[in-house]
Amino acid sequence: DIESPHFRFWPTGLPRTLDWPQTGLADNLSASAARDPLKAAIIFYDAILSYAELDREVDAMAGYLQQACGLAVGDRVLLYSQNCPQFVIAYYATLRAGGMVVPANSMYVEREIAHIVRDSGARIALVGQELHERLRSLVQARELDHVIVHAYNDYVAADTDLILPADVAEPRRPIEQGVAVAWSDALVAGHDREAVNIGPESLGVLGYTSGTTGQPKGCVHTHASVMAPVVGSAAWRDGQASDVSLSVAPLFHFLGMQGGMNLPLYVGATIVLMQRWNRDVALTLMQRYRVTWWSAPPAMITEFFANPAAADHDLSALKLLMGGGAAMPEAVARRLHDDYGIVFNESYGLTETAAFILGNPVERGKRQCLGIPTFDVDARVIDPATLAPVRLGQSGELVLNGPQVMREYWQLPEANAEVFIDIEGKRFLRTGDLVHVDNDGYFFMVDRLKRMINASGFKVWPAEVESIMYGHPAVAEACVVGVPDAKRGETAMAALVLRPGCVGSTTAEAIRDWCRGEMAAYKIPTIIEFVDTLPRSGTGKIQWRQVQAEAAALIE
Ligand code: AMP
Repeated sequence: DIESPHFRFWPTGLPRTLDWPQTGLADNLSASAARDPLKAAIIFYDAILSYAELDREVDAMAGYLQQACGLAVGDRVLLYSQNCPQFVIAYYATLRAGGMVVPANSMYVEREIAHIVRDSGARIALVGQELHERLRSLVQARELDHVIVHAYNDYVAADTDLILPADVAEPRRPIEQGVAVAWSDALVAGHDREAVNIGPESLGVLGYTSGTTGQPKGCVHTHASVMAPVVGSAAWRDGQASDVSLSVAPLFHFLGMQGGMNLPLYVGATIVLMQRWNRDVALTLMQRYRVTWWSAPPAMITEFFANPAAADHDLSALKLLMGGGAAMPEAVARRLHDDYGIVFNESYGLTETAAFILGNPVERGKRQCLGIPTFDVDARVIDPATLAPVRLGQSGELVLNGPQVMREYWQLPEANAEVFIDIEGKRFLRTGDLVHVDNDGYFFMVDRLKRMINASGFKVWPAEVESIMYGHPAVAEACVVGVPDAKRGETAMAALVLRPGCVGSTTAEAIRDWCRGEMAAYKIPTIIEFVDTLPRSGTGKIQWRQVQAEAAALIE
């Protein structure tokens, strides 16, 4: 629509629609490796893996998955690891072998990972050695057939002067025979890869996100829907083979997976990979490797630039700082510009859209703004109750159509019926985000319709946390809400009613301790309040908005 206000500030020189590649994701790696085989693809704590080496190891692991693990086209493969070269290799090997990658949050505890394994039906797992123990009972119950275990330290340069995170410094642990195989053994097993037919519509990634119901659900992404944000972002931000990307955001989440892995490999750039966040190490790496590109959640960027040592380092190569997943505080964005001359390029996306779908034009970005619809994206604002479009400037729910949008939720017909709606014969994804559009066609976040807490980009879903907390023997009723937090933007608070007879028998700290065994650390409510009753509606539903408003008033 030529008249659409979204096109008023469309980046100069860019086409409005792209020719989307008709290839599979792993072809991006092959193409980059063929162009410049000796170039550094990954630098991990000073160890360099060239494109040729990466390509070769991906092939070897793909062969192992096919021949030794019996992977067939469409089979799901669990990838449960912190950032490391093996993550990248396992991801591309699975795709090249015709499998579907199931990346799981490395913070997930045993109960959470068991759900992902069962729900996805993955029979093969690639896992970091510190997480291996959490899969043991699934192996014993024969719910997993093959487990390949890696040590982070396999790829570290012997002479590095960098301070290594504990898991990276740890040598390879011995592996029990019969239960699992060491990554290094799988890699040299010498299985040839068989060619499979993979195209844009083949299933590529099953990415989990929680939601308004108790358990996380899988977003089914094809090679094409993962490719769209990669190709779109490269064009939008002019990604080049000469770029060097700092990759520290977790690769298991689409923000890190796309900006920190798929995008650099697509353009043939170099990935400076970090296993975990450490702002001093990040600073050293940025100067040492002349990082040009950094895509990270706003909280990391904020902490990085709050480091007094940042002023003494040469960061002049850094030309683009990108972020999304949560709002960037206005004051931080302004300081970045004033003190360092760096423009923070904000964008917006969801696991359901494989990340990047709305973005700010680099030359004409607005602050605290989600941006405009990118290539071939149709973004509309509707009244969430009537589903009718709202007038320009009015708030409503953001709905999206575009090549980035997932095919569906994995085996959840009811959730699919709720999340997709038809407008003028086109299928739109409901985002659950309340937005408004300004006169220039830029989208801004107003509020959330969905019950989600955004704790510096970590998404906490109250319904999920509540359903776990109900499993505590002393808890009669639970209501989890988001409250303002100076550091994380928002944090989770739980209001709990204890069972009769249990009042006084437990403490907030004891409940938090219990939670540590039941849920990933970032989901555990930082504040726990014991209350006598929770407000309920006439139909008996807990009035969480009231709990939230009262909690927020108390905290301010
Ligand atoms: P996830 O599935 O973890 O990627 O979370 C998606 C959600 O993150 C969106 O529905 C938004 O609520 C939120 N989000 C993403 N990008 C932004 C942004 N730039 N500003 C504010 N919230 C965002």
